[in-house]
Formats: sequence, C-alpha cells, structure tokens
Amino acid sequence: MNLVAPNLVAPITRQYTPPYDVEAFRRDFPILATPVHGRAFLDSAASAQKPVQVIDAVRRCYEAEYANIHRGVYELSALATRNFEAARETVRGFINAAHSSEIIFVRGGTEGVNLVAASYGAKFVGEGDEIIVTYLEHHSNIVPWQLLAERVGAKLRVVPIDDRGDLIMEEYEKLLNPRTKMVAVTHASNALGTIPPVKQIIDMAHAHGAHVLVDGAQGAAHLKVDVQAMDCDFYVFSGHKVYGPSGMGALYGKKALLEVMPPWQGGGDMIESVTFEKTTYAPLPNKFEAGTPHISGASGMAAAIDYVTKIGLDNIAAHETALLAEATARVKEIPGVRIFGEARHKAAILSFLIDGTHPHDVGTIFDHEGVAVRAGHHCAQPVMDRFEIPGTVRASFALYNTMSDVDALIDAIGKVKEIFN
Ligand code: PLP
Repeated sequence: MNLVAPNLVAPITRQYTPPYDVEAFRRDFPILATPVHGRAFLDSAASAQKPVQVIDAVRRCYEAEYANIHRGVYELSALATRNFEAARETVRGFINAAHSSEIIFVRGGTEGVNLVAASYGAKFVGEGDEIIVTYLEHHSNIVPWQLLAERVGAKLRVVPIDDRGDLIMEEYEKLLNPRTKMVAVTHASNALGTIPPVKQIIDMAHAHGAHVLVDGAQGAAHLKVDVQAMDCDFYVFSGHKVYGPSGMGALYGKKALLEVMPPWQGGGDMIESVTFEKTTYAPLPNKFEAGTPHISGASGMAAAIDYVTKIGLDNIAAHETALLAEATARVKEIPGVRIFGEARHKAAILSFLIDGTHPHDVGTIFDHEGVAVRAGHHCAQPVMDRFEIPGTVRASFALYNTMSDVDALIDAIGKVKEIFN
C-alpha cells in the first residue's frame, strides 16, 4: 500500500474512526499503562513497544521450550528446533518469500546489510565497480557499502533528493551503468518518512544488470511486503521495530544468489564437514547462521508478526496515515515550525524544527511534558547535511498511537514556544 501524502489531507480529529479498536490493542502493551513520565510514546521508529503476546512467547520459550537447536537428540531440543524453523516459516509468509531457506536470521537490519556487503561484495564487487545508495539512507545502509568500497576499490555513488525529500529519479537513471553492481535503497526513510518508488528502482537496476538490497527497517512494520512482487534481491528488517524483540531480525535473499555467495562468518551450525584441510558448508539458510542464534528472539519475532498480521498491515498503515495527516496539518498551523520531508508517499514520520531552538532542547522539554520523541540526526547525517541542519525533532506513529497523542505533541510544541519566547 502506498500512503497518501499527508499534506493533502485536512485535519480530521473530530470525525475520525480508526480501522480497528486501537484502545483495545493498546491494552496489549503493558508499558503503555506504566509510562516513565509519559503521556505519548512517539518514538516507535527507533524501537516499537512490545505486546503481551510477544512477551509471553519469549517467556514460554525460556520456561518450557528452551534448548539449543539443530543439535540435540532429545525431545526438548527437537521442540526448540521446530519452533525456530516455524518462526522462519512465519517470516517467509510475512514477506511472501518463495522458500523458507531464503530467510536468514540475523541480529537486525544492520547485520543483514553487513552480511550482504561482506558476502555479496566478496563474490560480485571488485575494483572499479560501483554501488549506488541514496541520500535517504540510514548509516547502516551506507557504512557497510563504504567499507566494502574501500576494501575492494569500488566507488559509492549517491542518488540525490529534492526539497520535499523525494529521490530525484532522473539522477538515479544517470548513475546506473554497466559497472553498477548493487543498489541499496531504503523502503522508508527513518528521518523524513519518504517511501521511494522501490519497484521502479529495482526494475531500473535490473535493466542494467545490478542487484538491489531494500532496507526494510522502517518498511516492514508499516507496509505490506511482498519480496516476489517487488523482485528485490535482498530485503532486511529488524524484529524490534515490528513490535518484536531486539537483537533479532531477518535477511531475505534470492536463493540463486545466496547459494553462490560465500559464508560471511565461520563457526558451528554453518558447516557440513570440517577437516584442517577443508571445510564444506551447510545448505541454506544455515550457511549464513554461524553459532547459536537468538532462539527466544525467533519465537518473539514470530509472535510479533502474527500480532500485526492479525490487525492487518493495511489497517495499521491507514491508521498511522490518519495520525500523520492530523499531526502534519496541525503542526503546519503553528508559526515558526518547519517540517522536513513532504514526499509524495510517506510513512508515519514527522520531522520538524522549531525556530530558535535546538532539537535536543526540544526533546528534553517534550520529555518533561510526557512526550517521547527522537531528537538529533537519526543516524542519517547525509539527510541533515542536505538540508543544512544539525538534526530534527522526530515524532513517529505506530499502531497503538491515538489522536490524543497528537494532541500531546501539539501541546508540547506550544510549551516549547512558550519557554523560548
Ligand atoms: N535502516 C533504517 C531505515 C533504520 O531506521 C534503522 C534503525 O533505526 C536501521 C536501518 C538499523 O536498524 P537496526 O538498528 O535495528 O539494525
């Protein structure tokens, strides 16, 4: 689903009916009932809160179903292995991959990108080759490519953005050439909310023989993902941003590519046989999963996926878009507040600055008003440089936010203006 540009939508507080019972689902999140000094949690883009279903799944794993996987001959280990592999199947269904062997469990989006940069890079990227990233990327989808480029003598090329935060597609087209090996692009920008036209980006890259990695850290919790329809070569996301545990995430890769890519870490579980002369590797996905994995994290992430699937990603996206539209319209009415990122398609992220203030000061005052937001460069310094600002204040909306949270945000901006004036 592509989200509507919120600036085209009028404020809707009074007549708004959410597409699901938000208050009922809020009660699934224990932390929302016991906030530190909170009135509104508006930092889910950094990490989402966890519903009791996820907490229970992790507890159940440790209380009744825990042993190391893939190696024990006893029933408890077999049970833990079945749960782990069932979680893989849940992830496969969530992003509609063709085979569960295309799902590699990793620590999160960051590790997924690093895995691809190391392994794909070793096989496919050499001196003089080019890797395209965009101005929208999180550092975790820049630095691994930079490290690769430095290591092999490849070049990093960057797609610019316009003042609204949209990618300049004509410039992207100009960057593509026979030396382009990889295009690494975000599914949704964490700093501006921009949802780039990933399908078009992928098709254009493929037409030039390049592969594409989509960074789904901000996509998977808010947009329905279909990796086959998208035709991306790699997709990464983090469990903790999809209401699951931290330290757990997934990398999708097309089987044909993963099969020819070398392992990136060595250790237990990723081998078929080991001698001092030669090691042969396990088939997918184990080839890329050295060592004991995050066993309870897999159960927790699967529970989180079941949870958002039950509500429906389209419903969640529609609700978040309504909150964003309301917040955007009301912030625009406040003099001296500048919004950054008004792309045609946007995820539920509102980045702004209040004239005469530093984002960190705003974040601190907001905190005292019970409003948790992120303040700073959001691990996306090139975006900040593009707009010549040190950072922004970022409010991000999730499935449990309400129009009252928008009210709290607006009140907190009012408080900042009162203090600074
Ligand atoms: N990519 C984007 C767009 C992000 O927003 C983030 C985290 O904020 C990441 C990648 C990195 O995710 P993680 O820290 O979970 O590995």
